[in-house]
Amino acid sequence: MISFRVTARSSRSAARLGVLSTPHGDIETPAFVPVATRAAVKAISLQQAAEAGCQLLICNTFHLHLTPGEDLVAAAGGLHSFMGWQRPLMTDSGGYQVFSLGFGRDHDVGKLRGVFPGKEQQATIKPGSQPNHVKITDDGVWFRSPRDGSKHFLGPAESLAMQRKLGADIVFAFDECTAPLTTPAYLELSLRRTHAWAERCLELHDGEQALYGIVQGSHYRELRQHSARFIGGLPFAGFGIGGDLGQDKQDMHQVLEWTVPLLPEERPRHLLGIGHPEDFDEIVRRGVDTFDCIVPTLHARHGIAFTAEGRLNLRNRRFLTDPAPLDPACSCPTCRYASRRYLAHLVRLEEIGAMAALTVHNLHYCNRLAASLREAIAKGSL
Ligand SMILES: [Zn+2]
Repeated sequence: MISFRVTARSSRSAARLGVLSTPHGDIETPAFVPVATRAAVKAISLQQAAEAGCQLLICNTFHLHLTPGEDLVAAAGGLHSFMGWQRPLMTDSGGYQVFSLGFGRDHDVGKLRGVFPGKEQQATIKPGSQPNHVKITDDGVWFRSPRDGSKHFLGPAESLAMQRKLGADIVFAFDECTAPLTTPAYLELSLRRTHAWAERCLELHDGEQALYGIVQGSHYRELRQHSARFIGGLPFAGFGIGGDLGQDKQDMHQVLEWTVPLLPEERPRHLLGIGHPEDFDEIVRRGVDTFDCIVPTLHARHGIAFTAEGRLNLRNRRFLTDPAPLDPACSCPTCRYASRRYLAHLVRLEEIGAMAALTVHNLHYCNRLAASLREAIAKGSL
């Protein structure tokens, strides 16, 4: 199990400093959580991820169920020994795939957070609507594998059993992650399902792993608050905040302001799937303890570095003649040894080494940024 201790609180915001203790060590919070969907941080080794200061990784139950399968991972002794990663791990429940392989795929959103339909678009997902490739029932969800079209069923019991075999320190209750174009009427039905599944997960949970419940409710105040009260009132070890958080950053901040104050103060809060480096500060100010995001690693593989000077796109020609280190303010191995002009050259060649070098840097940058926010909370300046 886990325990969570708040060690300092900001007097100027809802930000808090804490220690989340797990069977695989302590996590200093607020913390950024890199994504290791299929038990890999893409482009780099887990040793490099540890050296970049990663405290905790999040893997995905649905994708690991498809490859290599939870039984194979269990036979290896669980994810920690399978991966050779001895720090804390989380597994997502598969609830996000209800969206990403369902309505998200139909409407071509969800690959990346921040890609929202325009405000003028009408909500079209009404009670009775079903996505093209996923079938949502009150018992759970039928998925089609994006690889070979095979059918897979995940409900609260299936997701939890898979997560038990995977053996992460922190697991999530199975939920329906809803899409931006959902009507309030559909959301009401969806929340009823998500809430029933949350209760079912608690009944089935054996207590060895820490189980987090997930608050949904999209960008509607009343529904978000209803979900936060309901999920926050259940004996979960911590809470995830998931789903559609509106059209822009202001909406996302608003959703957090509605939700976080209704969750129990003494338990940890995880924001699912959000965390561009420029958002860290605002997320932390609103009382979030951990947050995961694919952006730092995904952008690295596309030649984009996050630096003290802002985002640098190394595909830009000007970097081919720039002898400066990638980020003069950074002490990671990439910034110590490689110049911008050399990295720009590697990015143009789509060299594996460029993806690795930028991933190492972006993770180092994000972990340093989270550490600087912790320092600011400790000093009372956030
Ligand atoms: Zn660096």
